Amino acid sequence: MISLIDAVLRAKFNCIQFPYKLNFALTFKCNSRCKTCNIWAKKHPPEMNLQEIYSFFVKNKFLWINLTGGEIFLRKDLERVLKIILQTQKKLVLFNFTSNCSLPEEMYRVLKPFSDKFKGKIKATFSVDSYNERNDLIRGMPNGWENTLKAYGLLNRIKNISIFFGTTLSKYNLSDVKLIYPMLKERIPKLRFNQMHLNIAGNSPHYYGVSNQDNYENYENIINFYLKNRCKSLNPVHFVGTRFLAYSKRFIQTKEYPLRICSAITESIYIDPYGSVYPCISFDHKLGNLKETNFELKKILRKQKKSRIFSRCPKCWTSCEAYCSIMREFPL
Ligand code: SF4
Ligand code: SF4
Repeated sequence: MISLIDAVLRAKFNCIQFPYKLNFALTFKCNSRCKTCNIWAKKHPPEMNLQEIYSFFVKNKFLWINLTGGEIFLRKDLERVLKIILQTQKKLVLFNFTSNCSLPEEMYRVLKPFSDKFKGKIKATFSVDSYNERNDLIRGMPNGWENTLKAYGLLNRIKNISIFFGTTLSKYNLSDVKLIYPMLKERIPKLRFNQMHLNIAGNSPHYYGVSNQDNYENYENIINFYLKNRCKSLNPVHFVGTRFLAYSKRFIQTKEYPLRICSAITESIYIDPYGSVYPCISFDHKLGNLKETNFELKKILRKQKKSRIFSRCPKCWTSCEAYCSIMREFPL
């Protein structure tokens, strides 16, 4: 944790040399058909193989890794990818992933051997956009709700995993979102509201394959609901999550980036399954491909003029990058 605080402080004083957070889309394959995302419709050229992933992680070190997709549990070699991360990322402080929970038994099988291997807890976010059949309709996944509950039951037995439920707020679920927590609580009596996360559906042609999300009408009411129901906690990650929601409100009111500086490129970076490097998940601006630099990210980042890039970006507000931006704004 000290190394993470050190990185945040260096970012704050503009002394950071390399991003400490990696957002890595391990695969674009997905068996959901969510209304807010077209990843599943993308063509699938060969994704980085294990040897390439190994070369990448050997040459680039991070403190925080977020594995996302697609659905990462569709990758048959996920177990070996996790081994590579453990083997090469000795300073890793935070590890998290997102899943649509379509394969609960596979999730348990893959993660069980890693239960005590990562420093700190593995943070798992299960995506739920509504409840019961409404969820399955919005997420285009028959039996998705029940599979999510099954995955919770299984992964909850693994001691080193914290489970959260992540909802993407969009025009499709505005009327449902407030009911997700009580519906989950009915089935998981020990659930706490602090395990509920909320994100705003964003535009992202290169990642989600969407560029026409709505104009955020009536979102504020839902964000207020989340803010009101979160319990106070001294946990720094929880504190950042609460700030994220508060700034989400400002973002939908003004449609402007709510902070002074975005952390993309300097503190966080997004890499797609083919090794292409982007500032973040929202900005369709390819910085280069790792295969051109023998997997050395530094060589790609060295050439970038961040201020010029940021002036052209679409100004999003997503948790993948915003958490780092919020942390650098902490008063000393
Ligand atoms: S939001 Fe996630 S689960 Fe849904 S289609 Fe996109 S990648 Fe798949
Ligand atoms: S504001 Fe959003 S789109 Fe722009 S660089 Fe930052 S994360 Fe990317």
